[in-house]
Amino acid sequence: MLEIAEGVYRVPARAANTYLVEADNGLVLVDTGMPGSEKRILKAVASLGRTPHDVKLILLTHRHWDHIGSAAALKKETSGMLVSHGFEKPYVAGTLVVITPRAWSLYGRIARRVFAVASSTAKLFRLVKYHPVLVDEASDEESILDNAGLDGSIVWTPGHTKGSVSLFVNKSRVAIIGDLLRTKRGKLREPLFMENTTQTMSSVQRILDLHPVILCPGHGKPLPPSKVRIKERKAKPVKMETKKEEDVDLESLAKDLSAEAS
Ligand SMILES: [Zn+2]
Repeated sequence: MLEIAEGVYRVPARAANTYLVEADNGLVLVDTGMPGSEKRILKAVASLGRTPHDVKLILLTHRHWDHIGSAAALKKETSGMLVSHGFEKPYVAGTLVVITPRAWSLYGRIARRVFAVASSTAKLFRLVKYHPVLVDEASDEESILDNAGLDGSIVWTPGHTKGSVSLFVNKSRVAIIGDLLRTKRGKLREPLFMENTTQTMSSVQRILDLHPVILCPGHGKPLPPSKVRIKERKAKPVKMETKKEEDVDLESLAKDLSAEAS
C-alpha cells in the first residue's frame, strides 16, 4: 500500500489497482480487483488502523471483472454501500455479460480473439470465479459521498465503458479514474479497449478541467496530468470518389433505360 496524497492510498489488488480514501465518516474504497482480492484489501484497511466496519462506500468505476471481482465478498464483510453507474449495474449483478467492445489497437484485437473463445456466461463466471452482487445505489445519487463524509464528486467519464465513473477528491485534488486511461512507460495513455473513443477524449478533458494534481488509474502508477498522452482521433473523411462513381452509374443507367424505352 502506498500513500498517493494525504488520505488517499493505492492498494494493488489482483490484476488492478484499488484505492482507499479517508473520509469524515470512515473509508471509501474505489474498485475491488479480481475475485480473491478481498483479503489484501482488508489487510490494507487494518494497516490504516480501521476495521471492515469503517468502510462506508465501495465505488465501482466500471463493469470489468478486474474492478468488480471482489465486490460481493467486500459488500458482505464491510459496511460499505455498493455503488456503480446505472449502466454498469446489470453487469455487476450478472444479468448482463460484458461483450468485448470494438477494439482499436493491435493488442486489443489479439485480446478480443482470446476472450471470444470463452463465450458463454456461465463458463466465464466459472473461469474467473465471479460472484454476482446487487449494486445498492446508482452513482448519480447526490447523497452518496455525503453519507461517507467525503468532499468530492463522482464524475461520469464514459469511453472505456458506457457507465465508467471517476472519483474526484476535493481536498487532495486526486482523480481516481478506473480505466479511463492507463499508465504505460511513464505516460497516461488510452486503455486497450474503448466502447467509444470520442467519449474517452471528452471524459479525459472533463477530468483535466477539474485541475487534478494526480490521476490514479486502474492499471499502472498514478501520474500527474502533464503525463497524459492521448491520440486525437478524427472521423475518417467520406470518400467522394465512390459517391461520384455511383452518380455516373446511375446516370448511365438512366440513359440506358430511356434508350430502351424509346
Ligand atoms: Zn476495464
